[in-house]
Amino acid sequence: MNGTPTTEKQKKYTGKIFFIGAGPGNPDLITVRGATLLSQAEVIITDRLAGDEIIERYANPQAIIIDVGKQGGNEKSYKQEDINKLLVQFANLYEKVVRLKGGDVAFFSNVYDELQTAIENNIAYEIVPGITAASGASAYTGVPLTARGYSSGAQLLTYFQTSIINKETWKQLADFKETLVFYMSNNNLQSIVQNLLYAGADKTIPFLIVEQATTPNQRVQSFTLQSFFENPVCEFKSPAIIIMGKVTRLYQDFAWFQEKDISQGNYFRSVDTETGYLKIESSIQQKNPENADRAKTQII
Ligand code: SAH
Repeated sequence: MNGTPTTEKQKKYTGKIFFIGAGPGNPDLITVRGATLLSQAEVIITDRLAGDEIIERYANPQAIIIDVGKQGGNEKSYKQEDINKLLVQFANLYEKVVRLKGGDVAFFSNVYDELQTAIENNIAYEIVPGITAASGASAYTGVPLTARGYSSGAQLLTYFQTSIINKETWKQLADFKETLVFYMSNNNLQSIVQNLLYAGADKTIPFLIVEQATTPNQRVQSFTLQSFFENPVCEFKSPAIIIMGKVTRLYQDFAWFQEKDISQGNYFRSVDTETGYLKIESSIQQKNPENADRAKTQII
């Protein structure tokens, strides 16, 4: 499969879907290819974590912009099947449809469902890589994830549901030969720490929680497994990523990004602030009322 299906059915679809990783939020951290495609896009179907600044800076002003944000546990999140439908509908109407996702499209992003949708409907596509949150947080804390002598590798994990990691796996993770990076897991951080300690992890293993990495609102908090176990912190600004392992000691030595003090505002808007199918009411849409109307009449 090469992303350019050639069957008869394809004739129905003039459109191509460009799956683009927007990077971790800071608008300077999208690829040149990604920014160029945004400036040419006729339709942009975007996630909450792609960040509004990226759209404002790079998007074709004529583009129809549709916000299909998801947020863990939030009912206002878009359903994947609705997003899949939108992709098909727009690929039927326009040549350049961008599906913009936070970070890299390959990590914890449901791109698999969307690629399947493209294949099933014979829609051509391209995938543009982005800087994943682990890389963004690594760079903006100065922590090399596989620093020699500290870690032999890095694992990108999620623990948003407690069934995801079993007992055996906790034992392997608890040896901390590798750096562990947890996406979408801040709500279960207490459970992560407990599982690692019960599985025999060294209590002095340090870790960082990086909120809103790479944005002006980035905040980093340092703990050890033991210190967190004794004084757990439950509230984090979204999005947050957890980097665990010996490499995080290097934060003290190599941090370079100037962070503001404590309480930071939200860089990324919440799904709650957005309403309605196509998110017509969003701040971006209001800047583009004509485009929003066009989208409404074509899709609904
Ligand atoms: N595809 C994205 C991940 C989407 S899952 C990527 O490659 O980065 C969403 C999770 O990513 C969040 O819950 C958080 O753990 C992490 N994340 C994304 N952007 C982030 C950021 N700027 N700072 C901290 N964590 C981030």
